[in-house]
Amino acid sequence: MSGGQEVYGEALGAALSRARTASEGQHLARLGDLRSGTSPVTFRARVVESEWREVSRRKDGVKVVLFSGLLSDGSAQVRFTWWDDPKRDLLLAGSTFRFIGAEVRDWQGRPEVRLTRNTRFEPLKAEEVPMPARERGDRAMPLWQVKGGPPAFPARVSGVITSLLSSTGVVHRCPECSRVLQANVCGTHGTVEGKIDLRLRAVLDDGTGTVTVSIRRPDVERIVGHPISDADLGTQPSTVLSETLHSHLVGHYFRLEGRLLNGEFPTLLVESYEPVPALPAKRLAELRRHLAREVLP
Ligand SMILES: [Zn+2]
Repeated sequence: MSGGQEVYGEALGAALSRARTASEGQHLARLGDLRSGTSPVTFRARVVESEWREVSRRKDGVKVVLFSGLLSDGSAQVRFTWWDDPKRDLLLAGSTFRFIGAEVRDWQGRPEVRLTRNTRFEPLKAEEVPMPARERGDRAMPLWQVKGGPPAFPARVSGVITSLLSSTGVVHRCPECSRVLQANVCGTHGTVEGKIDLRLRAVLDDGTGTVTVSIRRPDVERIVGHPISDADLGTQPSTVLSETLHSHLVGHYFRLEGRLLNGEFPTLLVESYEPVPALPAKRLAELRRHLAREVLP
């Protein structure tokens, strides 16, 4: 296990035990009711997005980490900041917590939650925090956050498939355990008659990082738009298959949901997918013009 995961577990464990005692008898505030000066507050919220960056501290120019993002509890979305030695791998997008002992202050005329080393975090089940429909559609996890996450967790990601891995192609699986056979031998069940299957492994990039995605045959069939029979797999030249897969996947944008197995090479086992249509040409041209204005003097 990586150091990041240990730190995650340790921080979570310690925060948890403190939170249990601290949360007794605490009044729960709603984000929509927060006003500066009501600190410290306790509330439940979901992390909508989070990011960290290094900034120079105004008073002495020392570089410090600013961890910031958006929290929501269905009543409002409120910005949070955490300057005080933040645990950057704790507040991942989509995670839900009871926040105990946060401060509220005004920032540009709006209330902002300030987390400090005195704030405690008690993990909650997702259903304990209401989620408005408008947030449900877009809660993809930025891929830079994967490394700090737990060993396995449900995740939703979105990005462009940039390449197919060489392990993509026709495989034979053990009829007992579905493991991929090596020369008709399963590591557990010995020599068996394998079942032919299609394995698809690809790299998805969201601009903040990459993840390997593993897509099952029924989803692959939906993506390419036609069934791929056992006979096709057995007889079709591998170049034809790989060209088909390449043209429907590489360079295309997807929203994928599934179980993320963390580790040296994090892999998302895709359970559902949603293609994201290319932008209409008119909208693309508008965006290009807009970008040109932003960049050019
Ligand atoms: Zn087996």
